[in-house]
Amino acid sequence: MKNNIESIIKYLKGSNDDFIVTSHISPDGDNIGSTLAMYYTLNKLGKNVYHVLDDNPPQNLKFLVENMNILKSEEVNLDSYNIIALDCGDKNRMCISQKLIDNAKKIICIDHHASNDYYGDFNYIDTEASSTCELVYNLLIEYEKKENINIIDEDIATCLYTGLVTDTGNFVYSNTHPSSFEMAKELLSKGAKKDTIIQKVFQSNPYNYYKLLGEALNTLDVVDGKIASITITKEMLKRNVISFNDVDGITPYTRDIEGVEVGILLKEKKENEVKISLRSKNYVDVSKIAKSFNGGGHIRAAGCTIYSSIEDAKKKIVEAVVKAIQGDKNE
Ligand code: 5GP
Ligand code: MN
Repeated sequence: MKNNIESIIKYLKGSNDDFIVTSHISPDGDNIGSTLAMYYTLNKLGKNVYHVLDDNPPQNLKFLVENMNILKSEEVNLDSYNIIALDCGDKNRMCISQKLIDNAKKIICIDHHASNDYYGDFNYIDTEASSTCELVYNLLIEYEKKENINIIDEDIATCLYTGLVTDTGNFVYSNTHPSSFEMAKELLSKGAKKDTIIQKVFQSNPYNYYKLLGEALNTLDVVDGKIASITITKEMLKRNVISFNDVDGITPYTRDIEGVEVGILLKEKKENEVKISLRSKNYVDVSKIAKSFNGGGHIRAAGCTIYSSIEDAKKKIVEAVVKAIQGDKNE
């Protein structure tokens, strides 16, 4: 079923089943922000709701989950439940067990990824939206209007604001629209803790992060002036005591070089498993490149995993980007 905010509201309202909220692997601000906002909402509406994610939030988002009980799939034993998959463009990327996915009564998908294939029984997908948090915000505003109730409180506003600022790079990226600022204004008026969010998310990097960043910048490699890459090996992470999920914010260094169209971050998760982050500036659709490696994302920000050595992964992704630059330039 295609976009239908009305039918999602009707279903949420009418269902007496339990709900699981979940998102994608390698959680980011939009993932944690949208799932928590939905969790708090369903709680308020008197539903039984569980937040399930088989991965750990990065250090800079821990402040949002301090009082939360985030469950792993094996801790959940439910009979009749629905899944709300947020910010997850691909069913295979949902960060819960296959068993939980297979036995769900209905899957409600709320997402803004260009690569989303409408895998839910209900789908509210808007690839133009700044963030999934913006879609959750729209849904909640609609719900409030329809039922004449107040849902968005200080906690929900804080969660939604977090996803909005992280996915728009603090209102910088091309997915920042007038509606993003309107949403920000409304959330601030509802008590979103802006200063806490900015400090915790963007201004709390551990010292070791900068040691790692220094090493990472030393690997910077520019091809034809248009493609820049940075490589982070598992040894570099180990040496600087930084965990895999805590290396956010390094990819933009590649894209932000003058003349560079596509920036690539290669991050080695384990032997023969390399996480690739792609960013583009003007004309290359990086979600297409990511898709060709079974990944996905947005036009200007996407990712995938390549299962080979880091050297080989770099060769493959650079080759694909060179081709895409030729293709997209000629379109
Ligand atoms: P990042 O580079 O920050 O990890 O991800 C950039 C964007 O691409 C995010 O919206 C993220 O959800 C999406 N993305 C990253 N990796 C993958 C992947 O392996 N598969 C899919 N479908 N999307 C991804
Ligand atoms: Mn997102």
